[in-house]
Amino acid sequence: MNAPSPFFPLKDGRRCVESVPLADVARRFGTPCYVYSRGALETALDEFQTALTGADAQICYAVKANSNLAVLRVLAQRGAGFDIVSGGELQRALAIGGDPRKIVFSGVGKSADDMALALSAGILCFNVESAPELDRLDGVAASLGVRAPVGLRVNPDVDAKTHPYVSTGLKKNKFGVAYGDALDLYRRAADLPHIETLGIGCHIGSQILDPSPFAEALDRLLLLVDRLAAAGIALRHIDLGGGLGVRYRDDAEPTVKDYLEPLLDRLRGRALKILLEPGRRLVGNAGVLLTRVEYLKPGEIKNFAIVDAAMNDLARPALYDAWHEIVPVRPREAPPRLWEIVGPVCESGDFLGHGRKLALAPGDLLAIMSAGAYGMSMSSNYNTRPRAAEVMIDGDQAHLIRRRETVEELYALESLLP
Ligand SMILES: *Cc1c(COP(=O)(O)O)cnc(C)c1O
Repeated sequence: MNAPSPFFPLKDGRRCVESVPLADVARRFGTPCYVYSRGALETALDEFQTALTGADAQICYAVKANSNLAVLRVLAQRGAGFDIVSGGELQRALAIGGDPRKIVFSGVGKSADDMALALSAGILCFNVESAPELDRLDGVAASLGVRAPVGLRVNPDVDAKTHPYVSTGLKKNKFGVAYGDALDLYRRAADLPHIETLGIGCHIGSQILDPSPFAEALDRLLLLVDRLAAAGIALRHIDLGGGLGVRYRDDAEPTVKDYLEPLLDRLRGRALKILLEPGRRLVGNAGVLLTRVEYLKPGEIKNFAIVDAAMNDLARPALYDAWHEIVPVRPREAPPRLWEIVGPVCESGDFLGHGRKLALAPGDLLAIMSAGAYGMSMSSNYNTRPRAAEVMIDGDQAHLIRRRETVEELYALESLLP
């Protein structure tokens, strides 16, 4: 059981987000529905800001974790910049008035168009991941008559000991410049007329709960920083990426301070600005997926509770075998049973939880906890299911921040043959 979050309290037997009962949210906005807590978002960001007090640092929230405009705005209002991985994410960040000088652009496959968009916007830095990308960026910058600010994303070859799908800092991963190639690529960057080399960075993976691989990666990067300085290439910033995990089950969740202190210790006395790209840690435990039980199908081997949310709404269980706590919105006194919590999608992989001990009746509401990160942003329209609504709770107010899609919208871009 998760430690109770103050933003998702059980009040008089009713599960709430801040002061709003989830049953009221379901009545007003329907299900399935993502429900976020503004207070939880702000508190998560504040934990970083506090740990960074006195340091020359910038938080660049990884937009892909949850890219809703209202979420971006809440974080930007408290000083966050953004880590983007596409022109689309850049447009989101700009649409909410995000400061381009706080935006870093990551990703292994940046298109020339996206580069041009980001150069025109005047972003802080491109995290470049390969030699051909560096050349392309130099060319695009030349065509615009500007210099592109660049940091190399180096692959430090450390084991983040996380799920293989979310581990990114090993030699075998597609991400970053190989450690042994970094010096040469920096030399090459120094010779390119439209590249301005500013920094170095890494991102070793996601849902990392042990702080030590971060420190290991930083040590590897600092070795390069020193070698570069000796070669006359002085860097201005170091980007430590994202990846700090959150508690989903009974995981021992390190505090942000536990994570940052060893890193800040290593950076003390160096004239390097620190960039951080947290995603999951800022939004993961700030949201739930609210769903209703459609049918109960008790069986000989397994009991199935079929709910109205599915793998297209929350892919993490199907994709990573991820575990999310599932709680009743109105707990019942009846004796519990073990239920497979499954969606209506036509795939056996369409499950949200296995073997959950719950007392259920058809029509009950369930909250799938810790669904704020990589939930809505990874959702799809598989089975022609309109995507869920999104609601942000602010104290006793519920705000619709994305209305539910209509089926007509899902095929509006399609056309028949003449
Ligand atoms: C996904 C990603 C992040 C955010 O990762 P989290 O685990 O959500 O913190 C940060 N930086 C880069 C380059 C990423 O790809």
